[in-house]
Amino acid sequence: MTSQRTRERLVQRLVEQGISNQQVLGVMRMIPRHLFLDEALAHRAYEDTALPIGYSQTLSQPYIVARMTEILLSVIKPKRVLEIGTGSGFQTAVLAQLVSRVYSVERIEPLLSKAQQRFRELGLRNITADLSDGHFGWPRHAPFDGIISCAAPQQIPPQLLAQLAPDGALVIPVGGDLQELCLVQRRGDSEEFVEQRIEPVKFVPLLGGVSR
Ligand code: SAH
Repeated sequence: MTSQRTRERLVQRLVEQGISNQQVLGVMRMIPRHLFLDEALAHRAYEDTALPIGYSQTLSQPYIVARMTEILLSVIKPKRVLEIGTGSGFQTAVLAQLVSRVYSVERIEPLLSKAQQRFRELGLRNITADLSDGHFGWPRHAPFDGIISCAAPQQIPPQLLAQLAPDGALVIPVGGDLQELCLVQRRGDSEEFVEQRIEPVKFVPLLGGVSR
């Protein structure tokens, strides 16, 4: 079920779909995705598909995890990254292998505590995760070289842009029924942001966002 061959097939599919960053492919090959799912679904862990994790949320499709990570690494060599929507913790674990420190926020407590347990079991010590509304980023730990959002707002929350370090990059799905993956990069230390639309995607919505 979790044999090396099954994982190798998944990586082969990612390559066929255009993922070319060898570091990202290496991490996708190494991380045991089945440990991020409930036992009943673990046998489907290496299919290239999103899978339910409870509370109407999903573990993102491997392709999209690889793609968002690859996009971020293509524009900056990030040291500190903020992830919005910890969910199962899979994307968090992927990032933790590639950057010095990952900060991650989740709004559903049972998902957060399960993910944190997985990080402990896997010995991932460079992750700081907490219960919070990702619309507001994580001011206490800002600025971030990179921000990846695993849930889609209708519009890019300005707080996220404000928490980008000079040349920092935000990878985020934006929209409602129709969503697009966007890459926004801060130009140096200016207040200028360059936005690129990458491809159509389907994420769960970024909920919350009312001012506190
Ligand atoms: N990277 C995760 C994706 C989970 S789905 C994985 O692969 O498992 C997106 C997650 O975003 C869900 O867990 C959802 O609860 C969370 N989410 C939605 N809105 C949020 C918000 N405003 N702040 C923090 N997390 C949010």
